[in-house]
Amino acid sequence: MTLSDCCAPQPSSTQASCPTCACSGKSVPLVTLKALLTPAALATLDPAETYRFCADVACEVVYFSSTATYGQADVKVPVFQKDERGTTPVCYCFGHTRAGLEQAHREGQAQAIPQSIQAHIRAGRCGCEVNNPQGSCCLGNVNRTLTVLRDARHA
Ligand SMILES: [Zn+2]
Repeated sequence: MTLSDCCAPQPSSTQASCPTCACSGKSVPLVTLKALLTPAALATLDPAETYRFCADVACEVVYFSSTATYGQADVKVPVFQKDERGTTPVCYCFGHTRAGLEQAHREGQAQAIPQSIQAHIRAGRCGCEVNNPQGSCCLGNVNRTLTVLRDARHA
């Protein structure tokens, strides 16, 4: 008895490292690249490859496979991990930007944001795999960003 294809583990379970910065990257669903690469970059996608996400802020690589890399210029949206502007989304599905989180923090309303995202997740509205360049849930990034804001006030 074997697992059906849709339930099988990722073909490559070995840890792979970014060819530029050598940090290890999590594999990203192919649909994430299909949704978020620019047309020119998408035209070079190899669907047989496993693509991984480089989260290192100082590295220009966003996605890498064993044969190719894609950078910020190949992605249609600013990548949270690589782009520190206030207008860059932290939560791509529901449009919460760094500046939005900062404003909510100043107004003492910061916790309402992760709460509303969690409610959307429970309601089945979350679309991180096609909206968020990292291909997975934004909530960790939202909470980390809010923690940094909270700690900065007391620093
Ligand atoms: Zn890298």
